[in-house]
Amino acid sequence: NLTQRMARVVKTLRGEARLTEANTQEMLREVRLALLEADVALPVVREFVAKIKEKALGEEVVGSLSPGQALVAVVQRELTAMIGGDYEGKAAELNLAVAPPAIILMAGLQGAGKTTTVGKLAKLLREKYKKKVLTVSADVYRPAAIAQLQTVTEQVGADFFPSTPDQKPVDIARAAVDWARRHYHDVLIVDTAGRLGIDEAMMIEIGALHAAINPSETLFVVDAMLGQDAINTAKAFNDALPLTGVVLTKLDGDSRGGAALSVRHVTGRPIKFVGVGEKLDGLEVFHPDRMASRILGMGDILALVEDAQRGVDVKAAQKLADKVKKGGDFDLNDFRAQLTQMKSMGGLSTMLDKLPAQFQAAAGKADMGQAEKQMRRMEGIINSMTPGERAKPELIKASRKRRIAVGAGVQVQEVNRMLAQYDQMRGMMKKLKGGNLAKMMRGMKG
Ligand code: GDP
Ligand code: MG
Repeated sequence: NLTQRMARVVKTLRGEARLTEANTQEMLREVRLALLEADVALPVVREFVAKIKEKALGEEVVGSLSPGQALVAVVQRELTAMIGGDYEGKAAELNLAVAPPAIILMAGLQGAGKTTTVGKLAKLLREKYKKKVLTVSADVYRPAAIAQLQTVTEQVGADFFPSTPDQKPVDIARAAVDWARRHYHDVLIVDTAGRLGIDEAMMIEIGALHAAINPSETLFVVDAMLGQDAINTAKAFNDALPLTGVVLTKLDGDSRGGAALSVRHVTGRPIKFVGVGEKLDGLEVFHPDRMASRILGMGDILALVEDAQRGVDVKAAQKLADKVKKGGDFDLNDFRAQLTQMKSMGGLSTMLDKLPAQFQAAAGKADMGQAEKQMRRMEGIINSMTPGERAKPELIKASRKRRIAVGAGVQVQEVNRMLAQYDQMRGMMKKLKGGNLAKMMRGMKG
């Protein structure tokens, strides 16, 4: 399940595993499953994973000291690019720069949230952009639809153009455009009828509406809870209409946002807004980077990666690299410096705090606290040594160990354990001489 998968990712993140071609495959499998679990449509997942694989097996990831982090960063970046396209990292604005009235046509299935979004947009345009807004309903099929639009329009203080169920949608829309022009409205939002499923007659009708009023924005409204099905709906509307943008609604539910990726993939159009509540202030500008995090269920994982990269003291690392390269030994001073460096990354439990809940549970908060305590004790032990002992650890025999243990307030076994860990690290450092170490340091710099 997701928790276990993420736990494995965390293990890699903590640097307990090096990324090889073999476990890159495994990581990619996790990414693939995470995307499927987020309800991204299968063809989109396949294409995305293929792209990531190319990058992951390239220099960017393999060969860096923390390949887990590097891979997460690549996934995050590529996912953001795929969701955001040209709009990566920034919001795609509405195009209202036309001779007034700028017309916004709403399209989407029944229940997608079109009428609600008209109200939300009217509010936003009035309050933030100081526009004079008129709304009209071309939904002549459901008796309550026109009244519903009137209610939300009045709630936000915009103007409403009345229509009746016996009129034709095209006639309603034309009359509204004419009214808006004569009354100096900046924006006219045209609400339309949806069907429960994709329906030929509905597509023909909205196509005719579009041709009649030539809107500057044609927004496809889609329920994020549709998940995998979003891809088919998006395809049908994209074929029938020249869409200019997407509104993804109901993101306040437990949808994981996979629909964003599918819809973006099919239409190639930017997601301009997201609906985050039934209330009329529940509309937000769309941020591709946040959506990428949501899809991966990674919480603040990018911040974690950045912290780790910032926390590494590049100068100290370089000094150590130079020393080892010249054949110098890795002594306890160096070992202590490494411990300090880990602390400067904010400590293990701070790093863990940045991870989403399912990660935290999997990694086991208690274990982290334990590991951190141990790190502090090891530092305490080294602090209780003389400078000579730190520089030449082989001096440390039984009597010195007893003295150090008393000084640090620990048992002798713990001194032994610390020395064993140091030996292990020293062995690693010996193997990392020359080019390998330089490579490793580059990896640390990120
Ligand atoms: P339409 O048939 O496309 O016009 O959809 P409506 O605007 O009538 O919305 C259908 C239902 O979805 C209503 O109950 C809305 O309150 C609800 N809804 C719309 N947008 C959102 C949203 O962003 N979040 C939540 N939770 N509910 C929404
Ligand atoms: Mg409606």
